[in-house]
Amino acid sequence: MSLRVKVLAAIGAMLIALVGLLFHVSFAIVLRGFSQLEAQYTIRDVARVREALADELANLDSMTSDYAFWDDTYAYMLSRNPAYVTVNFVDQTFLNNRLNVVLLFDTAGQLVYGKAFDRDQAVEIPLPDGLLEQVARLLPLTDVESYQRGMLPLPEEPMLLAARPILTSEALGPPHGTLVMGRALDATLVNRLAEALHLSFTVHRVADADLPADAKAVVGDLQGDEAVIRVLNQDTIVGYGQVRDIFGQPGYMVRVEQPRDIYAQGLATARYFGAAVLLIAVGFSVFGLWGLDRWVLRRVLRLGASLEHIAANSAFAQRVEVAGKDEIARLAAAVNHLLGAVEMAHAQLREDIAQRERVEQYLKAQRDLALELSRVHEVKEALQRCLEAALQLPGLDCGGVFQVEPETGDCRLLECKGCSAAFETMLSHLEKTWNESHTAALPAWLEEAARAEGICSIISEPIRQNENGAIVAHLIVASRTLDEIPEPLRRVLTAMAAQTGNAVSQLEAREEARRHRDVLQTLMEELPVAVFCKDPDGRFVMWNRKCEALFGLTREQVLGKTDYDFFPKEQADWFREKDLKVFAQRAVMVIPEEPVDSPTLGRRILCTRKSAIWDKEGKPLYLIGVSEDITERKEAEERLAAAHAELQAAVVRANQMAMVAEAASRAKSEFLANMSHEIRTPMNGIMGMIELALQTELTPLQREYLTMAQASAETLLALLNDILDLSKIEAGRLELDQVDFDLRQVVEQVIDIIAPRAAQRGLELICRVDPAVPSYVCGDPLRLRQILVNLAGNSVKFTERGEISIEVTLANQDAEGVEILCAVSDTGIGIPPEKLEVIFESFVQAETGTTRHYGGTGLGLAISRQLVHMMGGRIWAESRGIPGEGSTFRFTARLQRAKGVLPEQLPFAKPPLEGLRVLVVDDNATNRRIVQEMLHTFAQLVPACPSI
Ligand code: ADP
Repeated sequence: MSLRVKVLAAIGAMLIALVGLLFHVSFAIVLRGFSQLEAQYTIRDVARVREALADELANLDSMTSDYAFWDDTYAYMLSRNPAYVTVNFVDQTFLNNRLNVVLLFDTAGQLVYGKAFDRDQAVEIPLPDGLLEQVARLLPLTDVESYQRGMLPLPEEPMLLAARPILTSEALGPPHGTLVMGRALDATLVNRLAEALHLSFTVHRVADADLPADAKAVVGDLQGDEAVIRVLNQDTIVGYGQVRDIFGQPGYMVRVEQPRDIYAQGLATARYFGAAVLLIAVGFSVFGLWGLDRWVLRRVLRLGASLEHIAANSAFAQRVEVAGKDEIARLAAAVNHLLGAVEMAHAQLREDIAQRERVEQYLKAQRDLALELSRVHEVKEALQRCLEAALQLPGLDCGGVFQVEPETGDCRLLECKGCSAAFETMLSHLEKTWNESHTAALPAWLEEAARAEGICSIISEPIRQNENGAIVAHLIVASRTLDEIPEPLRRVLTAMAAQTGNAVSQLEAREEARRHRDVLQTLMEELPVAVFCKDPDGRFVMWNRKCEALFGLTREQVLGKTDYDFFPKEQADWFREKDLKVFAQRAVMVIPEEPVDSPTLGRRILCTRKSAIWDKEGKPLYLIGVSEDITERKEAEERLAAAHAELQAAVVRANQMAMVAEAASRAKSEFLANMSHEIRTPMNGIMGMIELALQTELTPLQREYLTMAQASAETLLALLNDILDLSKIEAGRLELDQVDFDLRQVVEQVIDIIAPRAAQRGLELICRVDPAVPSYVCGDPLRLRQILVNLAGNSVKFTERGEISIEVTLANQDAEGVEILCAVSDTGIGIPPEKLEVIFESFVQAETGTTRHYGGTGLGLAISRQLVHMMGGRIWAESRGIPGEGSTFRFTARLQRAKGVLPEQLPFAKPPLEGLRVLVVDDNATNRRIVQEMLHTFAQLVPACPSI
């Protein structure tokens, strides 16, 4: 059923009910009004009847007064003249005055005169029964003012009665009796009164048996003067009123019966009124319903339809029509307002759902990454997974992952995904930037350059830091759609980076642990000692290869077993006792000799060290045993002890022999040293003679022979000199001089000696003494020169072409003296590196062919070394053995500072070169440098060139 039908039906029903109600209410109100009016009228009628009765009584009383206050009556009472009554109370008097009874009483209350009259019959009748008894109760009326008036309750019918004292006309007394007049309240009187009142009423004695039923029913309700109303039937209403008799007793009632004209009128009025109300209500209802439909229902239904449409299509952006300014229009406006709120809430909801979906996506990506990371085995792989997972996130398109190489410390782009070639190049440039800056911050140029590549936003996340806090792995991701990476996405990236960082740490830790384990394992396996490990119950948990070899038991056989599984009980008990002691004492136990029977090696002696490991709570974890097989050592020691004893004896013998040999050697050296003069003198003689013979006239052949003899003699003399020098040194007979000398002069002398030979071979001879080297020193100039000549002589000898250079520099100096460093270099055949040491030994030459080709004895360097040692220095050779590259001999020597001053060394007068330009020209670079150095002290600018 539609709303319209429902509303119209409901309102219709309500209107009908309302109209019905209205009708009934109005009907009831109108009728009630009329009923009340009817009752009021009836009450008034009852009162009118009472008044009429009272008026009747008053009339009777007035008449009674007229007769009682009349002098005739007064006189009569004294005279009792019958004429009075005969004249005054004739029948006509009764008829005219509507009297029924006249009574005259004397003052004693005795009836003087009494007459009763039936007015209907117009005849005198006897006095009614009981009249006199009742009247007697009212007498006497002695007072002028006193009187009696009321209704006398006679058995037949009530009588209106008035009694007055008989007085003079001036109402003066004394009273001569009482006049009583009565008027019967009979049907005639009642009818007359009813006619006069236009009413229908009756007077009843309450105690009457033939009282009408309705009157009988209200007897109990009659109180005082209140009238009681009863509707007798549809057409008749009755009013009852109580009437008191002359004695004040409520013995009578008046019953006024009225037709219900007012009620009938009211009924008709109410009916007309109801019909009118009905008509008006129907009219109003029709108009109201039409208006309701027109102005309310239709609009509400239209509003409902619009809302239905909006709801069905979720078209919260639409608005309902707002027409007019009434409540429905306000409702529509409110609905529109509500729709606005719903639209916003809907949008917010959609945004929330999208947000939740994104968060779920993020969480899933994180979970997936965690799963992936749990499967990877390498750091690189973990970083790649991190990048892949990051690029799964919505809005992120491309990126790269960087790693700092642990070995080199260089930051490197490990992987790039989804990047254009240009962006990849930019990322690779970051390697350099980050290597220089050591930060993970993105340089400004990157963001600018990336924007040109269509990248809207870019973010860098540190994945891992090393123990110094330096970032060692970065993640960079970029978006081509998001202008800014939203905060939740950033947080996810941070979380992913941290997750990866943790995974990397774990991988590294695992790798480190694995390496340590491998190292430990290898170490264990390779150790030449047996290593085993037991748990607190004595079960083996580790057993290395040496153990296997020593005890003949494989690891598989041993692990998880105890000593009792392999050794006799006594021995196993012994092992166990020691183990428990180690656990208890918390100290390393050394068992120096532990005999063990090996199934493969027989009886072995072990030296075992046992120690224990405890956990943090001090609970024993493991016992580590290290057993060294000292069987061989023990045997060797025994052998050694025997050998030692033998050696002792041999040493004693050797010492004796050495002493003998030393004595012999010294004797030989001393002999040679002593023979020096004797050997050299004949040689000088021979050479002198040859010299002299060469100056004589000789044939070319003789000259050739003599020249050859001279050469041989010189060679022999040199050899002799060397042998003698060596002998002297070995015999400890050589002593160095300590004299002041000019170092530069010594070097020049060397040059003088060598120069001819060098020139002969076409060799360039270069000499340089560093200016820092002091010229005047104290030492043995001859021996120094000998060393230099030896070295330079060798250089000339072993060099075919090139140059020989002698250089003296200052190595060290202090207050007492200087240490000079002399270097003699050549460009000769060089010396093989393995010979660089042995050539300094006596009679040793670098090559066996050397003697034949170059001659020599192999003594020069040995002597030089001895002399250098005596001068507190050392000598060594440097060469790579490459011909043409030559060799360099260096030696150091300590010289004392000169005691005096060398005359030539007095302050040097500078040549007047100041301000001049000096051009040094030489094809040899070393020479140019030497001259340049010398001139440098005189002139500031010394350009040099190889040639002009
Ligand atoms: P020798 O009289 O044989 O030269 P030395 O003691 O002076 O005896 O030298 C020993 C050896 O050292 C030489 O035989 C030679 O093999 C090698 N030697 C010494 N100086 C040089 C050098 N300047 N160039 C190459 N070899 C050299």
